[in-house]
Amino acid sequence: MSTSPRQRGRVAIIGAGPAGMAAALSVHQAGHEVVLLERYRQARPAGNILNLWPPPIKALGLLGVDTADLGAPCDSEFRNMHGHTRVRIELPEDVVRDYGGGFIGLLRPELYERLLAALPPGVLQVNRGVDSIEQDETGVRLLMSDGTVEEADVVIGADGIDSLVRRTLWGDSPKREHNLQIFGGFVYSDAVDAQPGVCVVSHTRTVQGSWTSIRHKGRNGFQWWVLEAQDAAVEFVGDMHAAATRLGADFPQPLPQLIAATDPADVQRWPIRDRKPLQQWSKGRATLVGDAAHPTSPYAAYGAGMATEDGYFLGRRLAGVNLSDYQAVRAALEEFEVPRKPHTARQCQQAYVLGQIFHHAPAPLRYVRDFVLDRTPFLQKLIGESSPGEILKQLALIDDAERAFAAESS
Ligand SMILES: Cc1cc2nc3c(=O)[nH]c(=O)nc-3n(C[C@H](O)[C@H](O)[C@H](O)COP(=O)(O)OP(=O)(O)OC[C@H]3O[C@@H](n4cnc5c(N)ncnc54)[C@H](O)[C@@H]3O)c2cc1C
Repeated sequence: MSTSPRQRGRVAIIGAGPAGMAAALSVHQAGHEVVLLERYRQARPAGNILNLWPPPIKALGLLGVDTADLGAPCDSEFRNMHGHTRVRIELPEDVVRDYGGGFIGLLRPELYERLLAALPPGVLQVNRGVDSIEQDETGVRLLMSDGTVEEADVVIGADGIDSLVRRTLWGDSPKREHNLQIFGGFVYSDAVDAQPGVCVVSHTRTVQGSWTSIRHKGRNGFQWWVLEAQDAAVEFVGDMHAAATRLGADFPQPLPQLIAATDPADVQRWPIRDRKPLQQWSKGRATLVGDAAHPTSPYAAYGAGMATEDGYFLGRRLAGVNLSDYQAVRAALEEFEVPRKPHTARQCQQAYVLGQIFHHAPAPLRYVRDFVLDRTPFLQKLIGESSPGEILKQLALIDDAERAFAAESS
């Protein structure tokens, strides 16, 4: 990409998660100077289990990330506790041909390693927490925890669910506690035998128990997670592996075997929460990406995916923009967020609602709920067709963005 010196500018990105790293790669490809500021001493994944849909994988490849042999593609099903299939996620032939399947199982550290390997030297600065942000029409000033000041033309908040940038732009908003807890872990195939290439999401009347193939650094394996209602105000004490074993016990094999074979050190727990979607992300010279813009429940299994897409689309939109021109920056940030907001808000809201339906339905309604889910096409239409259809539309939007980027570059 050749951007004229007039159009070069300096972009500061706060937070080196999937959103920040993808944004840094895309902004760099757009020809701007970029600095990625991370508060910790390294960009480190919070957790292990992860699945990615094809659009983020496609975006990563275009951003120069090595996606060869990244994860295990899976065919996905939702089942009831007796093994009856409620939903089969049908994918277009070209998606299966190009990506092997819809839901790609991997472990988070490998995604981070590959993102970090793609970042140009000097872009990532660690131990660089941002304490506050000031902006006017001429630029942005970041006051750093080490007492220094960073100046930039544009600031991108990729700083997660508790985003300082979001708070600075739009004020505080309460976290939405889902009152759910999830336990998850992984195990390699040499320790356990299960069917490869599938992702099975199952529900009893109150618990979700799921497992999926993974591939991590050339090794095949499985990740699993179990999820139940839990008052967010009650602190978890106890043995996570034992809690997961209890929750998985009512599910068909291989879930109980997978949990039993997992090293307790590889079991983790998270409370589930999000925040309601924002009406607007950008203000002045600042915008948001990833969980900072749309904190997403793990029930969506798409928060890191959407974060990656956000970063990709934002960088593409800033290509050719003269960042010293306030109006040009405003227009580009607005054009970035307009298509992203309905897509991400729908996914976040759907994840919240599904968590409520599956785990917080009053006991007398659970029979009716399960009758509807087992005997009507409601869930197939929602989870099997409509939602994956929306997600896979991002593939065509990425093609459009690449065409515009190529035209801008020529
Ligand atoms: C159990 C679980 C399972 C999940 N499963 C999936 C899945 O299968 N698929 C999927 O796509 N998503 C999944 N998600 C969601 C996904 O993890 C998040 O949506 C994703 O990590 C968001 O990425 P992000 O880059 O926006 O934010 P984060 O990953 O939260 O990164 C934010 C970064 O900003 C840094 N930071 C914060 N404040 C500052 C500051 N002031 N100064 C400097 N740095 C700062 C933080 O240290 C951090 O590195 C799951 C989440 C959980 C909890």
